[in-house]
Amino acid sequence: MVTPSDRPGRLPHDDTRAGAASGATAATSGTRLATLRADCSRCAGLCCVALPFTRSADFGLTKDAGTPCPNLGADFGCGIHARLRADGFRGCSVFDCFGAGQHLSTVTFAGRDWRDDPETATAMFAAFGVLRQLHELLWYLTEALDRPEAREVHAALRQERDEVDALTREPAEPLAEVDVPALRDRIGPLLARASASVRAEIPGRARDRRGADLMGARLRGAHLRGADLRGAYLIAADLRRADLRTTDLLGADLRDCDLRGADLTGCLFLTQPQVNAAVGDAATRLPPAVDRPDHW
Ligand code: SF4
Repeated sequence: MVTPSDRPGRLPHDDTRAGAASGATAATSGTRLATLRADCSRCAGLCCVALPFTRSADFGLTKDAGTPCPNLGADFGCGIHARLRADGFRGCSVFDCFGAGQHLSTVTFAGRDWRDDPETATAMFAAFGVLRQLHELLWYLTEALDRPEAREVHAALRQERDEVDALTREPAEPLAEVDVPALRDRIGPLLARASASVRAEIPGRARDRRGADLMGARLRGAHLRGADLRGAYLIAADLRRADLRTTDLLGADLRDCDLRGADLTGCLFLTQPQVNAAVGDAATRLPPAVDRPDHW
């Protein structure tokens, strides 16, 4: 939920992803990753309406799914965007829709939105959660295709990416019915093979800790280069100045993980929400596809 103030009065009907829909060179993959990030200026504030949240350390109030957040403006901008964390909406500063919001708003619904056309609301909100997961899969597939060391599985990855991409272009009703867990089961092993190929080339790589419980672990300055940390629980772990180069971080829980001064150059499958949930500073080195959060 990152909400700039320069929203257009009306949502355009376009698809910036279409221009990068084929090919797998590093340049096109980079372009595709950029389109798989939230662009709130082209979205009808979907995450601020479709998703429920409960008053907690992450959200300042409770609201049901399908109910607009009271902080959502008439222009679909967030009225407290500049002070989300200070006002108790930390969860909003962590969220990223992987570009599902603008795709649903400008492509699937071609500029119609839940306010002007309330009949679209139910279908729009039902499709949003599914489309976000499909876009997240596209993020991982695109990144794997950008790794020349994984060329052995590029053909299979490209086939999966094209299939997922085609699903994102379905109308809202069939889109909401897509079996995402089945897709994950199919694509996960391919991503693991791509990761293994990339990490195999790291001399003296660290041992794998896939799914490990490392909550609060003291790993300051640790050598984790090339390790498999998929699904690891790194909540509040101390990874200050750790070497995480070319580490696989797919699905790792980085909430409050201290990454100050850590080196994540070339790490695999890192996403913006993971980075947003962690602690970092100007010395943290990140891959180019993710941004340094404003709150670091
Ligand atoms: S506070 Fe409300 S309007 Fe602002 S980003 Fe969060 S959900 Fe959206």
